[in-house]
Amino acid sequence: MQEKYDVAIVGAGPAGISAACVLADNGINAVVFERGEFPGAKNISGGVLYGHDLARIIPDFSQKNCPIERNIVESRIWYLSRDGGYSVSYRDKAFESQRRYNVFTVGRAKFDRWFADQASQKGALVVCGTVVTDLLRDENGRVTGVRTDRPDGDLNAKVVLLADGINSPLAAKTGFRQEPSPSHVALAVKEVIDLPEEVIDQRFNISSGNGVTIEILGSITSGMNGVAVIYTNRKSLSLCIGANLADFATKKIKPYEMLEIFKTHPMAAPLIKGGKPAEYMAHWLAEAGFENIPKLYGNGYLIAGDSGMLFNTLHREGSNMAMVSGAFAAQTIIDAIRKNDFSRSSLKNYESRLQNSFIFDDLKKYRRFNPFLAHHPEIFTSLPEAMGFAAREMLTVDGTPKKKKQKKIWKNLRKNHSLSALLRLMWDGYRSV
Ligand SMILES: Cc1cc2nc3c(=O)[nH]c(=O)nc-3n(C[C@H](O)[C@H](O)[C@H](O)COP(=O)(O)OP(=O)(O)OC[C@H]3O[C@@H](n4cnc5c(N)ncnc54)[C@H](O)[C@@H]3O)c2cc1C
Repeated sequence: MQEKYDVAIVGAGPAGISAACVLADNGINAVVFERGEFPGAKNISGGVLYGHDLARIIPDFSQKNCPIERNIVESRIWYLSRDGGYSVSYRDKAFESQRRYNVFTVGRAKFDRWFADQASQKGALVVCGTVVTDLLRDENGRVTGVRTDRPDGDLNAKVVLLADGINSPLAAKTGFRQEPSPSHVALAVKEVIDLPEEVIDQRFNISSGNGVTIEILGSITSGMNGVAVIYTNRKSLSLCIGANLADFATKKIKPYEMLEIFKTHPMAAPLIKGGKPAEYMAHWLAEAGFENIPKLYGNGYLIAGDSGMLFNTLHREGSNMAMVSGAFAAQTIIDAIRKNDFSRSSLKNYESRLQNSFIFDDLKKYRRFNPFLAHHPEIFTSLPEAMGFAAREMLTVDGTPKKKKQKKIWKNLRKNHSLSALLRLMWDGYRSV
């Protein structure tokens, strides 16, 4: 593979394909290498995408047969104890009409394939079943292309974009990014459960084509720092549960056991009843936070998406950060090609673009969120149980005066939480968001 391309992109996820689309739109010769048999074959996500950011790349995506599962009209948050839970939710008519496809669910296997087809139609070359094993460099260390596992393996390029996701041995091997430490990644498992469309409509109280997301915190992650989600697809539900990798290592809990417990929880079980398991996957999530974002550019290369640790844990926004960072990388490359300068100082503008966008703003704003969860394990252990106790007590009608119940609830709460610890929790929580 001796032909010289302007840009070689590693990974056909949202970051790599967005970059390929923007480059192809500007007549630039880009090739995307994807190790999966097809784009999406190796990808897992809870399945929520964001219309605003996809429309930057494909403005008329909903008319172009984008494989949308459901348009999200309601978001629920659950805080669960072992046997019960609190639920808050918000539904808005605006999301059915004026802001349709603000948030929507997709199956990544279908979506990534469709997205890559859009890039191919624009003129990018997407090469699947090919692993990029190393980067080529000149005598000064400047990146000059990629080495692949194909027989005719090396390809020269003016710039290489690493869009190879969180699980990127390449970034670590080349020294552009450290191997993430266990506390900087979460391990998540996902099961897709098939159910008839009308059963999902009924169980979630939604009209056809619309959907609900549920974000879940509490005892459900067996005392580990983690979350679970339930997302509605057209004819299936996506269930995901995950926790910090360091916590898995300490607690010796198996992710699939945690998922099985989650499926039997009284809040979740009725929603999945009678469903057939269709798919099961496991993947890492980038949780390093703002302080641990690696240098995202250098001589001849850029890093976008999860590979650059661009993930907002609190708002589960990763795919949009991937798309937008991919597009920013492409715009920076277009400028560099015009100047014929692929040095670090020429590619520095990529960082300025990120700094002037919601990506760095949000990641900076929430930089204390992951540490907050890590420093307050009670959020996943004693607190949900104490809150469950409180609700159960107040809702049990047994002739006990309410004042007496309140005293009992307070005493129970104080058993495991001192007043200073509760105040610290509130203060740290406030500062983290
Ligand atoms: C369980 C789970 C649930 C999630 N839920 C959501 C959600 O609801 N909404 C949301 O916005 N985000 C969610 N995310 C995060 C989201 O999936 C990522 O932020 C997003 O996929 C990042 O896109 P990317 O293009 O950077 O990387 P990826 O999507 O990981 O794509 C990287 C691609 O590179 C390929 N690749 C890697 N190495 C090589 C190599 N050496 N050679 C060739 N190809 C290579 C991979 O096969 C892959 O296709 C979730 C993640 C997980 C794990």
